[in-house]
Amino acid sequence: MAHKRLFIPGPTEVSKDILDVMSTPMIGHRSKEFSALYESVIPKAKKVLYTDNKVFLSTSSATGLMEGSIRNCVKERALNLVCGAFSKRWHLITKANGKEADAVEVEMGQAITAEMVKDALKTGKYDAVTLVHNETSTGVMNPIEEIAEVMKEFPDVCFLVDAVSSMSGVKIEVDTLGIDVCLAGVQKCFALPPGFAICSVSEKALKKAETIDNRGYYFDFLTFLKYDGKHQTPTTPVISLIYAFDKQLDRMLEEGLENRYARHLEMANYIRDWTREYFDFFPDEKYLSVTLTAVKNTRSISVADLNTELAKKDAVISNGYGKLKEKSFRIAHMGDLTLDDMKWLISQINEILGL
Ligand SMILES: *Cc1c(COP(=O)(O)O)cnc(C)c1O
Repeated sequence: MAHKRLFIPGPTEVSKDILDVMSTPMIGHRSKEFSALYESVIPKAKKVLYTDNKVFLSTSSATGLMEGSIRNCVKERALNLVCGAFSKRWHLITKANGKEADAVEVEMGQAITAEMVKDALKTGKYDAVTLVHNETSTGVMNPIEEIAEVMKEFPDVCFLVDAVSSMSGVKIEVDTLGIDVCLAGVQKCFALPPGFAICSVSEKALKKAETIDNRGYYFDFLTFLKYDGKHQTPTTPVISLIYAFDKQLDRMLEEGLENRYARHLEMANYIRDWTREYFDFFPDEKYLSVTLTAVKNTRSISVADLNTELAKKDAVISNGYGKLKEKSFRIAHMGDLTLDDMKWLISQINEILGL
């Protein structure tokens, strides 16, 4: 069957050798073999996250860990920084879990700034902040370094970061930035099939969790910590994907993390040049994402028709997210894709649109 190559911001294209590894015969999740796999994966994941914190493996999509971080780390009141659909989701999750929360919201396409965070935290109302590093719905990459500097002035506040569509495509130094929970699903920059997510959890976040009742069951970080001591997960994990994760981490470290980031930036620069020439950016140009580009549809093309034509060439891009449909479209340049893939895609799009 013809396969449409994915130029969408998740799931991303998965390499053949990764798919092959997923057919490794099954093992028991309480076996020595599984603990060996776990012990192989965790140190490599810590390298990718530049952290000495605990790293937990969650059999869920990333949203599960967004919920988990709220249940484990919010006691008083959360500050949700909202700049698009996924950061908005985190606000809804916070409320849905019965936690007090306020949203500081900017228009779609705008970024969260350090000043906004500082002004909100100065009120002293909050014990946790949620930040989506790379807002996949708008193509904005928030200035995490500057925000992290502000967070350091408020050491009692937990810094929760969704890096779902940036982790491993862009350098995120968890310990240097002082991130308490940094989470991602593996179907974006890690270029694995969906169904699995990881997070780093700081000592501070674990201590905080100890003081919080009703952490829930499935995403209780203290249960994850207990099983981590045995090199296991609390419940039956998606073992096939953990084999794939192990293999992908090897491939990533073989490529070299710096080379991997450079490849992502190189692809981004290529798509940005094309966007400047023929369209415009949807987001504020100061905060362009390195892993996907949201293009403003200044030529009023039919994005749906473009995708229909691309499908005949076995490729697919993303329409705008939600109400940004047809007003924008998104080209992902993340995971295992290369500059050659971008050149190929753009040549197809140019041909279809007659550019
Ligand atoms: C994709 C995405 C999510 C949701 O991930 P799931 O794995 O579908 O739960 C959350 N946040 C961001 C920024 C994303 O890009």
